[in-house]
Amino acid sequence: HFEGEKLDDDLAHAVARIMAHADGARRLRVRTNADTPEDAARARRFGAQGIGLCRTEHMFLGERRELVEKLIVAEDEAGQDEALAALLPLQRQDFTEILEAMDGLPVTIRLLDPPLHEFLPDLTDLSVEAALAEERGQVDERAATLLTHVRRLHEQNPMLGLRGVRLGIQIPGLFRMQARAIAEAAADRLAVHGRPQAEIMVPLVASVRELQIVRTQLEREIAQVQESRGVRLDISIGTMIELPRAAFLADRIATAADFFSFGTNDLTQMAWGFSRDDVESSFFATYFQHGIFDVSPFESLDQLGVGGMVEMGTTKGRETKPDLKVGVCGEHGGDPLSVHFFDRVGLDYVSCSPFRVPVARLEAGRSVLEKR
Ligand code: PEP
Ligand code: MG
Repeated sequence: HFEGEKLDDDLAHAVARIMAHADGARRLRVRTNADTPEDAARARRFGAQGIGLCRTEHMFLGERRELVEKLIVAEDEAGQDEALAALLPLQRQDFTEILEAMDGLPVTIRLLDPPLHEFLPDLTDLSVEAALAEERGQVDERAATLLTHVRRLHEQNPMLGLRGVRLGIQIPGLFRMQARAIAEAAADRLAVHGRPQAEIMVPLVASVRELQIVRTQLEREIAQVQESRGVRLDISIGTMIELPRAAFLADRIATAADFFSFGTNDLTQMAWGFSRDDVESSFFATYFQHGIFDVSPFESLDQLGVGGMVEMGTTKGRETKPDLKVGVCGEHGGDPLSVHFFDRVGLDYVSCSPFRVPVARLEAGRSVLEKR
């Protein structure tokens, strides 16, 4: 009710006092999940103290799909680099706008984590296009080439496939391009105003080795930008913890991470072994009837199971680095009961969609006040 609607003065005053009370009490910081300057600005009006998750997937859709296609069909690294060179200025612009909208507040940019099937042209459409051309006695070169590559990349379970850090290792130029775009955007902002606080986050890490490999590449790109621009950029590099294996091995993973952010959407999916994309059509209704769930574990954190991993991952990460910054950026970051849980286990921040920021602020405050 904060935006668009005019609250009557007494009510507005009461809300402002309650929020101030909660803000004065809370320990948890509240960030937002935002990947457009509009969402970032909206979240700031709701009191967000930074961006905890800037997803970069949508930045590769629309008109840019053509460049993604080029990347997919590239025969070698040189071909990939050509497509990536065209994406670099577009990404630099994306990140400049987000950093500008947050005006010096921290911005965690997550490297590309596409379920690949959402980016690949549709196999059936392509087959039809190619078949129609063949019927006319022609060859549709584009459809035929894409078809070969899409078949090669086709996966039965894309959510368990070539995503996140795996894609970054498969196509090293991709993460390098994103890191360069982030570093250049940060250097541009530095020249205009203040200290931009860009943070790079690596998705779907399961092993410290993955993070070490990617980290080396990212650091090299940042160093090159620093050198060519003659500036010093404080860009930290952290990881999402969203696979059970990462939570179990968080002490090792912390050796290569400046911060952790729990991706409780994937962590819930992977821990329970059910698909986050099929909740509506699945057995969930029966599970509610049998009282196995009171509420979907995707909505409110399963505190015993998934929460246990969050707590263990936090403890283990801080055994390696006592000051390790730890947050959460899954949907649970804006769910009241889950916010109390994250406060209890000692996270530093929660990050949630812009409209949930006020609730997260309130609940973070209540969590502290209730203990007094
Ligand atoms: C998550 O998995 O919790 C997360 C924040 O990442 P995404 O929802 O983009 O997979
Ligand atoms: Mg995820």
